Amino acid sequence: MGFDRFRGCAGFIDSALMLQQIFDERFARAGVPLYLWRLDQLPGVLAGNKYYKLSSNLDHAVAAGRLRVASFGGAWSNHLHALARAGQARGLKTLGLVRADASTALTPMLEDARRWGMEFIFLSRSDYRRRHDPGFLDSLSDDWPDTFWVPEGGSNALGVTGCVSLGREIARALPDRDLIVALACGTGGTLAGVAAGLGAKAQVQVCGYPMVKGGFYQSAVEEHLRSAGLCADNWAIVEDVAMGGYGTCSPELARFIVDFYRRHQVVLEPVYTGKLLYALLQQVQAGEFQGRSLLALHTGGLQGLRGYPALLADLAEVGFQGLEEGF
Ligand SMILES: *Cc1c(COP(=O)(O)O)cnc(C)c1O
Repeated sequence: MGFDRFRGCAGFIDSALMLQQIFDERFARAGVPLYLWRLDQLPGVLAGNKYYKLSSNLDHAVAAGRLRVASFGGAWSNHLHALARAGQARGLKTLGLVRADASTALTPMLEDARRWGMEFIFLSRSDYRRRHDPGFLDSLSDDWPDTFWVPEGGSNALGVTGCVSLGREIARALPDRDLIVALACGTGGTLAGVAAGLGAKAQVQVCGYPMVKGGFYQSAVEEHLRSAGLCADNWAIVEDVAMGGYGTCSPELARFIVDFYRRHQVVLEPVYTGKLLYALLQQVQAGEFQGRSLLALHTGGLQGLRGYPALLADLAEVGFQGLEEGF
């Protein structure tokens, strides 16, 4: 599926690698060639960076003989959505602990997850805050035996290690480039793994763009590296791109996403990838990255566009056919 749609697109380099050059005059004028790594186009049941984070977790759960995988997330969580889909494909039961009110209607994301067999426990904001608390997790484990527990966002050592493979794929695909690798961060687990996977390459700088406010990313990424037994010093955090906070979509961002689709037929979403490309354009236009190639990771998340119906309508006007079946 993904491959076929991708084949023949302008700037397409290698379907197996998901690498596409984007001919954008704004980046070209600034002397910065732009590439996208299209994780949104991965074939199979899991697209986006969650493929790398969850595959290793599910392999582990199966090998350990667990019947169920459980994790935490909000009502629009890409992570829970992916976990439900992948769990079903692997014959594992799934349980989502959701920061939401049980009495309100399920979001389209949770509707999908339910269709794929996920059970839910709804947690208040204050209970949700206890998601890392060992006592709370122990009591949950007693209630749900034979369950493999994955932390919010999938950024445990297994998830981070899974992302090392992605970093290695990138290093193999662009071996001689003086390269900036840019990616959007939620928990920072993907950044940690990708940076470690690219580590041996001297001319690479990995830039993480935090989409959750709070200034905790430097230490969070260091902790992800430590927990997975990895080292990397080729990465940096670029602050202040959250643009109004997690999940917000300003009219300016919506216009940017629609315009990007019109130019390149590449769909971005407002939570991660849209803000990332918007921030990169600002930086490039301010003269940064000159003489280097810029590779932005399209980490997926398109199913979340259903939370932005006005934006979806604007995208339809410039030719976007809508989300693929299966969401
Ligand atoms: C989950 C997600 C991220 C964030 O990944 P982290 O490893 O938590 O930093 C980025 N982009 C998209 C589309 C995601 O779904």
